Amino acid sequence: MSLSRFNALQTMENRMEPFPVEFAEGQAENIASYFGENVFNDEAMKKHLPEAAYLSVKAAIQSGQKLTREVADEVANGMKKWSEEKGCTHFAHWFQPLTGKTAEKHDSFFTLTHDGRVIEEFTGSALVQQEPDGSSFPSGGMRSTFEARGYTVWDPSSPAFIMEVADGKTLCIPTIFVTYGGEAQDFKLPLLRSQSFLDKAAVPVAQMFDANVNKITATLGWEQEYFVVDDALFNARPDLAMTGRTLLGRPAAKHQQLEDHYFGSIPERVYAFMRDLETESHKLGIPVRTRHNEVAPSQYEVAPVFEEINVAVDHNQLLMDLMERVARRHKLRVLLHEKPFAGINGSGKHNNWSMGTNTGINLLSPGKNPGTNLRFLTFFVNTIASVHKYADILRASIAHAGNDHRLGANEAPPAIISVFIGDAMTKLLDQIAKGKNADGKEVKRALDLISKLPNLELDNTDRNRTSPFAFTGNKFEIRAVGSSQNCAGPMAVMNAMMGLQLVEFKAEVDKLVAKKVNREEAILTVLKSLIRKSKAICFEGNNYSDEWREEAAKRGLNNFATTPEALDVLGSKLAQDFYSKSGVMNKVELEAFHAVQLHGYCTKLSIESKALDEIVHSMVMPAVIRYQTELADNIDAMKEIGMDDAIGYQKDALKRVVKNANAIREGLDKLQKALDKAHESENVRAEADILCHKAKPQMEAIREAVDDLEAIIDDQYWPLVKYRELLFVR
Ligand code: ADP
Ligand code: MG
Repeated sequence: MSLSRFNALQTMENRMEPFPVEFAEGQAENIASYFGENVFNDEAMKKHLPEAAYLSVKAAIQSGQKLTREVADEVANGMKKWSEEKGCTHFAHWFQPLTGKTAEKHDSFFTLTHDGRVIEEFTGSALVQQEPDGSSFPSGGMRSTFEARGYTVWDPSSPAFIMEVADGKTLCIPTIFVTYGGEAQDFKLPLLRSQSFLDKAAVPVAQMFDANVNKITATLGWEQEYFVVDDALFNARPDLAMTGRTLLGRPAAKHQQLEDHYFGSIPERVYAFMRDLETESHKLGIPVRTRHNEVAPSQYEVAPVFEEINVAVDHNQLLMDLMERVARRHKLRVLLHEKPFAGINGSGKHNNWSMGTNTGINLLSPGKNPGTNLRFLTFFVNTIASVHKYADILRASIAHAGNDHRLGANEAPPAIISVFIGDAMTKLLDQIAKGKNADGKEVKRALDLISKLPNLELDNTDRNRTSPFAFTGNKFEIRAVGSSQNCAGPMAVMNAMMGLQLVEFKAEVDKLVAKKVNREEAILTVLKSLIRKSKAICFEGNNYSDEWREEAAKRGLNNFATTPEALDVLGSKLAQDFYSKSGVMNKVELEAFHAVQLHGYCTKLSIESKALDEIVHSMVMPAVIRYQTELADNIDAMKEIGMDDAIGYQKDALKRVVKNANAIREGLDKLQKALDKAHESENVRAEADILCHKAKPQMEAIREAVDDLEAIIDDQYWPLVKYRELLFVR
């Protein structure tokens, strides 16, 4: 009998020779010699654009100024020349639809003139706007399919780049994706809007401390976690191939309990993949810097140096795409799913977020000069206050089917949003909050307190790994983001939250100043009241504990364990005000976004249910029945020769097989009923509810029975690659 499992294992065995990896040219040289060579960056623009066009593009990047058609033509021309020198034949508008992945439609530079001559051209209008066939991207009903137009529009603030796939090279132009009416249908436009809103809101606050500040940009450094498995084993697991996670599989006897994988040595094949990935990333200007093993077996992390948020988001999207492609060159598969394996850690994507000024200051860095401490305190406390106010919206921004397996399950971090700030800052805020009246003396005392802080960057970083939102010395780290997610979702919320909070803060301070209160006293007075009001969101203990769940409920913090529940807030007045006041999404866009998220959830769960049903029927049960027959035959045969006392084990095993087979039958039946009911539901919210609360528990019940069978069915019959093989054999 030829099982795909054993074929796959054999294929992998044959790979065990050192894997032939050809590194790109320049690998051995220093990174600086090829970093960004495939990016139409400042240097390339200077070289390939007329000076006036170059300056216009710079102004467009810095202050969002519109470009004229003439300039667009010149830029297109420069880009074309640059990319052709590097071997590009095609160009593509690259965008980030609400699927969470990236999309691109390639067009050739080649075209025919009206008299039939072949020319190569790339015009300003082709650079600025394209109309990909948008009908198959989710729009939440904003476009009905008969008028399925979606437009991609050039975003000059993120540089164009060259994507190399096999031998083909394509000039990729980062774009936003909108409807005919200009409504956002992607993650990028809301992010860009949130960025400019935060800029507008934060500049006046920063100017209270330094008149030279005229621009504030949010910064993001993501930490991407992922699993790596062998390509052949991946292909022999239809659940992995279809859903990105294992729907079945008994945890191996040895998993992460020894904690020997974390910071252990990286296996050679994976190491070769990482180096290759790094080279490809560096060519694209993605400043990846850190690589290491993660907690679970076969789990790793890659992280860059932080960048301006828009570019950081593009770079993460690009990296996820690169990872999958580069891995396949190494006959490996990268799993970006939040929970590919039961029983061991899942993957997240910590988003390190801060704000920087045009004067080069990190607004969340305490700094050494006592004079700047009030500025730090201002931005620090306002961040906490914004999370307190908008925790539910932040929670919604990280809600999706994959992340439900982390948040809300027994895993880091929990679904309850709270903020960790460390001992030193907790004490300091307490003392400030206790103060009576913020006169000059008290301001001085508060500033002195901050000056005496220990070095936060060294002292506080990563003390508490259980918190979903932690201050790590000079930035906040949002740890609840899912590994497969587009960071733009939660980052747009983060920027908008902070912007709204800063607008309110400034208004409060101004009110006091108008009453002739000294500026510093006014600031401290408002901060004090913010500290008191937002105390409930701060938590320093173990976020996994049951006590915290109870405590959080007492504090009025919400605990939305599942996606459909967590998304409900998007239908509320709070969310409508939040998105419209910040200008990040209008009402139509918000409704559409909510619908797309719910729909995506339902689709994922339906696919998982159907995949499970098929795998159990066509792979698991035939193996179970075969072994069951063998046991029954053996029992008969033993009895026939009078060996009744030798059938104890067989009978026990048979009973266990039968019990599980019955449970599977019942589970499949109930799962089917739930699916039928879900598909008849009157709206997508009701459908999501049934899938979440009726279908999912059945999937788990089926899994439990199958995983128990995996422990006793003849290993030679078992059709699915086992965890120990997927996770430990290299
Ligand atoms: P860890 O969280 O593992 O301790 P680091 O402290 O090195 O790691 O930082 C993690 C990420 O935070 C990196 O991508 C780093 O560039 C980023 N980071 C550092 N400073 C900032 C900042 N001011 N804004 C945004 N991200 C930052
Ligand atoms: Mg971290």
